[in-house]
Amino acid sequence: MAQIIDGKALAAEIRANIKTEAAALPRKPGLAVILAGEDPASQLYVKNKVKDCAECGFFSRRIDLPVDVSEEELLGILNKLNADSRIDGVLVQLPLPEHMEEKRIIEAISPEKDVDAFHPLNVGRMVRGDSPVWPCTPAGIMEMLKAYRIAVDGKICVMVGRSNIVGKPMGLRLLRDHGTVVYCHRHTPDLAVLTRQADILVVAAGCKGLIHGSMVKEGAVVIDVAMNRDPETGKFSGDVVFDEVEPKVSYITPVPGGVGPMTRAMLMKNTLTLAKLHMGLACEH
Ligand code: NAD
Repeated sequence: MAQIIDGKALAAEIRANIKTEAAALPRKPGLAVILAGEDPASQLYVKNKVKDCAECGFFSRRIDLPVDVSEEELLGILNKLNADSRIDGVLVQLPLPEHMEEKRIIEAISPEKDVDAFHPLNVGRMVRGDSPVWPCTPAGIMEMLKAYRIAVDGKICVMVGRSNIVGKPMGLRLLRDHGTVVYCHRHTPDLAVLTRQADILVVAAGCKGLIHGSMVKEGAVVIDVAMNRDPETGKFSGDVVFDEVEPKVSYITPVPGGVGPMTRAMLMKNTLTLAKLHMGLACEH
């Protein structure tokens, strides 16, 4: 039987520590969150981000823009936030309205305030291994591994999914920490042959029921990133068939209550890290 990695409890602990650390700083860390449009899921995410800021004692600014806001207007707002000394992190909620070019918007955020680590300069720093912050989901997974004393060094790490926000940076981080990394994706011919090799298996495909018990090694660590929403019940489930996989492995994350709360907590941690850097205080990378 596996040990269940409790992301919810760990995230609460991390938020409490962040609050204590933030209270000792010369000024409050500041996060700006921009939402263009009225997508209900995005609205909820933004609301939670602002709530988390309040809980951690941060300064926050929420900027709501109409769905037809022009790219030039949004770029103008980003310029002002880049120059605002109360703001340490700037986040533009994705997805953006269709008429906007995502790359252009992301590249307009100052790399030093790029709290999601999506700017190409920070992607380069990740490849080099020394980015001050990492995208929130991979950062949250690394915190989980650390908290449960799961070593990456020397392990075979298999990543299912290669998106820019989860899969790619997750693999880079595992590589930086001396894992041997294999990336799998939609074009991978025989997924099971590779997933069965994994000491640490991270699954972020968004494909419910993808990973069966027969696809994992005895004693592996399984991290299920996916959040597949059932359109009828509204409930979330992962990519891993939990009842089949859990009896075989040593550690597993539940969905919900695993990676999701950690991703949320890491936005606060990244904001704190950037704030400390802006205040000239040392941070561990
Ligand atoms: P994405 O759609 O951008 O990327 C999915 C990746 O999985 C792609 O690289 C694709 O090639 C691969 N893939 C898809 N089906 C596959 C299959 N059958 N076999 C092998 N590879 C396959 O998605 P994303 O943004 O990386 O998100 C992935 C999942 O993680 C989604 O369910 C998303 O909701 C969830 N997510 C959760 C959190 C969290 O905090 N828990 C954060 C971000 C994303």
